[in-house]
Amino acid sequence: MTNLNLSDEWNGILLKLKKWARINSPWAIHYNSGSCNGCDIEILATLTPRYDAERLGVKLQGSPRHADVLICTGPVTLQSRDRLRRIYEQMPDPKFVVAVGSCAISGGVFQGCYNVVGHIDEVIPVDAYVPGCPPRPEAIIDGLVKLLTALKQGDPPPTERPTELELENYDAATI
Ligand code: SF4
Repeated sequence: MTNLNLSDEWNGILLKLKKWARINSPWAIHYNSGSCNGCDIEILATLTPRYDAERLGVKLQGSPRHADVLICTGPVTLQSRDRLRRIYEQMPDPKFVVAVGSCAISGGVFQGCYNVVGHIDEVIPVDAYVPGCPPRPEAIIDGLVKLLTALKQGDPPPTERPTELELENYDAATI
């Protein structure tokens, strides 16, 4: 924006416009870093007309270079770790990450596997957590709405990773 040689006033207006557009139509990219596909199916259901995440302006993108939000599922496998990092680095700032499912939050049932190196926030920073195995579309929409509401107020949401006990209780309650 500095290349445009705009006055401070116009720079301020452009920043406000970009923030307004981001909040009203966040473009998202989805990455499976090792999930069993259960969470991915729920994300697809979230985007279909039945749950219709597009009514919130959420649009799925094919390229990280055009995305504001990275939706991650699964634990991080050795094979996917560098790809996850590269996708995150290719996204323009400001960028936000949503970890969907117990495996993305803690490694879940894949903890300790020989090919699993950890969970999402051990590789990239996470802004919102959606627990569940798998989380329902309503829970995924709730996570996105919380993220957007916090962004509207100016800050990313407080990021507190659910504890193992909270995850176990959550999974037991949703089975
Ligand atoms: S949280 Fe459950 S559904 Fe999602 S990737 Fe892990 S095992 Fe599969």
